[in-house]
Amino acid sequence: MARNGLAAWIGALQGDWRAVFPRCADRECSAARRMGRRLGWRHVGIRLSGSWYCSPQCLEKAVRQNFSRGRVTALPKRSARHRIPLGLLMLSRGQLTNPQLRAALEAQRASGHGRIGQWLEHMGFATEQQVTAGLGLQWACPVLPASAPHDPACLGLLPFSLLESFRMLPVRFVAATRILYVAFCDGIDYTALNAIEQMLDCRTEACLLSHSALERGLEQMAEQFRTRDLSFESRRDVGEMARITCSYALKLGAEEVRIVHCGDYLWTRLQSGDTATNLLFRRPALALEEPSSGPARNFLTHHATG
Ligand SMILES: [Zn+2]
Repeated sequence: MARNGLAAWIGALQGDWRAVFPRCADRECSAARRMGRRLGWRHVGIRLSGSWYCSPQCLEKAVRQNFSRGRVTALPKRSARHRIPLGLLMLSRGQLTNPQLRAALEAQRASGHGRIGQWLEHMGFATEQQVTAGLGLQWACPVLPASAPHDPACLGLLPFSLLESFRMLPVRFVAATRILYVAFCDGIDYTALNAIEQMLDCRTEACLLSHSALERGLEQMAEQFRTRDLSFESRRDVGEMARITCSYALKLGAEEVRIVHCGDYLWTRLQSGDTATNLLFRRPALALEEPSSGPARNFLTHHATG
């Protein structure tokens, strides 16, 4: 009995110890790095993607690997190919005539840009409301009235550069169920919603908002939020991005780092207490990529563009 009690007590102590100093997830982690951690790193390690890293070196290596994985992932395409084309949908509802649709498609083809909805509006064949309602049917999701109030609580949740690049707007956050409602104006981007869910530990629900209402919402946010995130628009190599991320993680005393690949960005979120800081990096171009193995630093600094 006594022996069992002692074993349980030792086991509990070991458990406590592991809770404070879990095992570093870097398989090449060395005693020297762990010592460096004790001498130089104020807080007790940082978590990244559910794993714990003991020292800045171990974290930087893991962040670099994480960024490297992102650069090989193909950029998600915003495709509505499997949906009924908007023009046909509006034609079937009697909102357009055949010649109008043909003329709009021809204008779109000739110019080589713009969505069909924009052309229909531009040529006076449909109103913005009709186009937005058509998109709501096409994507099977609710359309918000242009005058719908936006919940101020959710405005700062997402990095402004991402909102701008995806043309999306957070409109309501229900804390009790952790559901974030996100509005789009050109169609729903599920890769962006997926990234948001991973970063914020929440569920998302998509809705549609007219172009002009969404642009107004973004403009209103711009002044307040444009400079709040750390946005690195010039393309950097993975090594440099990892060094920047780790130096901010240390400076801000982050307990957790999260990284997702979202459109043309690598979105990094540093959590320290109740405060989150977003770092946004443009995805590195192919020529700047890190070789898949071996020491990379010289190669990278040689190719760095800043
Ligand atoms: Zn380590």
